[in-house]
Amino acid sequence: MKQNRGIGVSPGITIAEVVVLGGEEYDVPHQEIAPEAVRDEQDRLTAAIKKSQKEIFDLQESTAGKIGVEAARIFDFHVGLLLDKLLLNRFCSTIDQERIAAECAVAKVLGEYAKEFHDMPTYLAERVKDVYDIEERLLRNLSGREPQTLSDLGRDVIVVAHDMTPSQTAMADRRHIRGIAIDAGGATSHTAIVAKALGIPAIVGLENITASAASGDMAILDGNNGLLILNPDEDALAKYKTIARQQSDFVHSLDSLCRLPAITRDGHEIELFGNIEFPEEVATVLTKGGGGVGLYRTEFLYLGRDTAPSEDDQYEAYCHVIRECNSKPVVIRTLDLGADKYTQERARNPERNPFLGCRSIRYCLQNLPMFRQQLRAILRASVEGDVRILFPLITNLTELRQAKMIVRDVCEDLEDEGIDHNPDLSIGIMVEVPSVALQADAFAREVDFFSIGTNDLTQYTLAVDRVNERVAPLFTPSHPAVLRLIREVIRTGQQHNIPVSLCGEMAGSPMYTLILLGLGLRRFSCAPPMIPEIKKMIRSVTIQQAMEVARQVSRFDTDAEISNYLRATARKIMPEVFGG
Ligand code: PEP
Ligand code: MG
Repeated sequence: MKQNRGIGVSPGITIAEVVVLGGEEYDVPHQEIAPEAVRDEQDRLTAAIKKSQKEIFDLQESTAGKIGVEAARIFDFHVGLLLDKLLLNRFCSTIDQERIAAECAVAKVLGEYAKEFHDMPTYLAERVKDVYDIEERLLRNLSGREPQTLSDLGRDVIVVAHDMTPSQTAMADRRHIRGIAIDAGGATSHTAIVAKALGIPAIVGLENITASAASGDMAILDGNNGLLILNPDEDALAKYKTIARQQSDFVHSLDSLCRLPAITRDGHEIELFGNIEFPEEVATVLTKGGGGVGLYRTEFLYLGRDTAPSEDDQYEAYCHVIRECNSKPVVIRTLDLGADKYTQERARNPERNPFLGCRSIRYCLQNLPMFRQQLRAILRASVEGDVRILFPLITNLTELRQAKMIVRDVCEDLEDEGIDHNPDLSIGIMVEVPSVALQADAFAREVDFFSIGTNDLTQYTLAVDRVNERVAPLFTPSHPAVLRLIREVIRTGQQHNIPVSLCGEMAGSPMYTLILLGLGLRRFSCAPPMIPEIKKMIRSVTIQQAMEVARQVSRFDTDAEISNYLRATARKIMPEVFGG
């Protein structure tokens, strides 16, 4: 039995078999062969190519079924290459002339191919990744190993990996992944956010768990405490089965809250919304008792697919969400691509500092056709309900004005085309960089609402990369500087009479509910599975109590004192969540 500590990012306890991902890097040592072995090696390679072709055809078919024929065309290149007679000849003659094993010929020939593509214009250079993908597939089939796949698991597992991109997490087989444990990442990495949204217990920042765990191991994953126990003994299993049962009882006990309002004991009504990444999550927001969608991360429409969604794809997704919300508010955030989402995976020259690079609104303002297309889809869908637009990562007023001008421009186009839309919908900004928090009064004059993004606000205030496990202990919204910025933004919103919500992970952590209420926050938006706990916290306290907590916190100078105090206070109110 081996205990491994990381950062618990999505609560819950799971006991299941482990599947380790990412062990698919093949070392190809130089291996010479005897002249009489040439034929055998060529046959082995031909068989591996045939098997790879079949895998790709199957993948193409299932993708067409799940996402559509157009999306399935991403595999056309793979098919073309594997059917290419010239390539086969090049493999065979390399084996023959250089007297090397099939694996070496694959690595050599495809290495040359990759280099040729790399030197081509950007569009073709993207093919390098496909060439590597084919190489990996051929090497695996030559080795006789079965493929690792997350999309068709067939049994309940805990996935252990070095890292997972948000797209991998989004595409995973959600029915069977019972837990996620990864080496990399921080508490607010998007992989963590997706896991929480899907209600999958998860731990990140385990540093070297891929080396300690092996596929087939049994494990207990405790997402509340960031603990992964490999090959647990009988005592540990019995203990965790009891804890899991108690937790599930607690979660069920919250069901009755779903239909009750989020109102404090002294009668203050609080708005409690859900954050979503996928349209299907709206159902959870509503069943968990959320009052609408406070943050729709629309960039997830781009993840898990290789072709960009069309205007109609986006329009359909938005309409689905808006109609299901049935006139409850839906805050649609415009594309927040970049940083750890999408663009780097596809970039020929990844940015050195993607979180400080071309992401979010910056990316949209540099890719206007894409931005305008999304705004058209949002504005067309806006007539279906209470839709609000939210711009991410605004850092200065010029960006805000440009973005608003483009909205007006798109409205005029729709007007000219006679397409129904709501030209007066509310426009807000994410307050997620210190420059905006510090200049909030100037922004408040030009927007209809603020939404505080504490994930990025913490990252940029404390200079701590939110996905880097090595600095994860430094990432905390309990830092007095972060709390001071939040307090000022809420105050400025009150002075200008514009609503302020908070939609970072902090909003979904019951430990922070009291301090946020005490700082004056009246609108929370969090991962849908967390709504009941936050509602319970809200319903258990008075605003007086919350203001006292805020006063007490303002006396502390360090994040450790603040976290300890907030945890102790929250434990008294909800011992079931805080263990004791
Ligand atoms: C945030 O930064 O707090 C936020 C809600 O946005 P995201 O996590 O998508 O960057
Ligand atoms: Mg953000």
